Amino acid sequence: MPSPSQPPRVGFVSLGCPKALVDSERILTQLKLEGYDVVGSYEDADLVVVNTCGFIDEAVTESLDAIGEALAENGRVIVTGCLGAREERIREHHPGVLAVTGPQRYEEVLGHVHAHLPQPHDPFLDLLPAQGVKLTPRHYAYLKISEGCNHRCTFCIIPSMRGDLVSRPIGEVMTEAENLVKAGVRELLVISQDTSAYGVDVKYRTGFWNGRPVKTRMTELARALAGLGAWVRLHYVYPYPHVDEVIPLMAEDGLLPYLDVPFQHASPRILKLMKRPANAEGTLKRIQAWRAACPGLTIRSTFVVGFPGETDSEFEDLLGFLEEAQLDRVGCFAYSPVEGAAANALPDPVPEELKEERRARFMAVQEKISAARLKRKVGRSMTVLVDETGKNGAIARSSADAPEIDGRVIIRQGAKLKPGEFVQVRITRSDAHDLWAVPTGLRVAG
Ligand code: SF4
Repeated sequence: MPSPSQPPRVGFVSLGCPKALVDSERILTQLKLEGYDVVGSYEDADLVVVNTCGFIDEAVTESLDAIGEALAENGRVIVTGCLGAREERIREHHPGVLAVTGPQRYEEVLGHVHAHLPQPHDPFLDLLPAQGVKLTPRHYAYLKISEGCNHRCTFCIIPSMRGDLVSRPIGEVMTEAENLVKAGVRELLVISQDTSAYGVDVKYRTGFWNGRPVKTRMTELARALAGLGAWVRLHYVYPYPHVDEVIPLMAEDGLLPYLDVPFQHASPRILKLMKRPANAEGTLKRIQAWRAACPGLTIRSTFVVGFPGETDSEFEDLLGFLEEAQLDRVGCFAYSPVEGAAANALPDPVPEELKEERRARFMAVQEKISAARLKRKVGRSMTVLVDETGKNGAIARSSADAPEIDGRVIIRQGAKLKPGEFVQVRITRSDAHDLWAVPTGLRVAG
């Protein structure tokens, strides 16, 4: 327990996806506002909050292990996040936790923290930075625009854990984005479960930002964000017709020519079994049209192979789609059943070995495509954003690379650069994932 002169200290463990990270940032911001100290070790903490993930079985195991570790090392643990929606599962493994709350239950988490570690008397002693507490490096930040999802993909339990789509008011999102940019953020990564559905739940209501009317809708949001002067990257965009409207904005400064569209499969029958909204033929045409409108566009996607019932020929169709679509960045998962997902009841599960074999074949095809696409960039000049520097050079990203999931631009002779700086480079070499570059001496204003 803290002494009266010392602020109470909370430890925080944040697991899971960028959406969970944003939840963690909100809780941490509030705790700091209330005068709690956030500390980096179990030993220094009076209590530990664990923000869990429950998306796939591996994440559940990781979350349960993290709770166990926090209990062993500290003993006073509050659990929140996606796995928190399954309290019985947590209590079965860890009956000693102080409290359990589900995802986005910020107030409940804070209530439990207050109950077990009373608030300090003068919350204003602790100054909070204007942009709140961020867990990402200072120069980029995730901007969460909605919670929940209206789809019911059969392999996913997010809607049952997080509920239907709830869009954040556009004025609130824009103010947060503006504060982040004012505080030095150079890149905003827009996230949600389904970014293109933004505003559907409020019938695209008109909100206000800085006294101006703005519709709660992806195109209007993208346009407003692009005007803030930072890079803006759109994640988790579903190929609805109105996505075509944002492509011309990508030719202008600000909105990066980058679309993260989780296609998941290309066989119409598998997409139907997955309950995904799209068919491959339409998708290929859309990709061609997007590229015609914005030739520098980077398309990132994820796929699942070995979904129950996937036949050899359906898998071959998927490889054929990959060859035709020539996507820039691709992630591939072997299907793994998630407790509570509707897909578990589907017949004809694909044997584990075959799933892995398909995943390896899929990645081999994509690796060749990625290598060829990156090779075309050798000799070109481009603006990159520096992430890290060391004595041998710097690591940066181009408009084609989202942090953590895509490639890097490795800059030789870049030791004098600074993280968060935009710089002009010339590409000298490539492989299947990364680019190598030298600075052209030009520092680009952010
Ligand atoms: S779109 Fe599908 S996979 Fe994504 S969160 Fe919604 S239900 Fe899950």
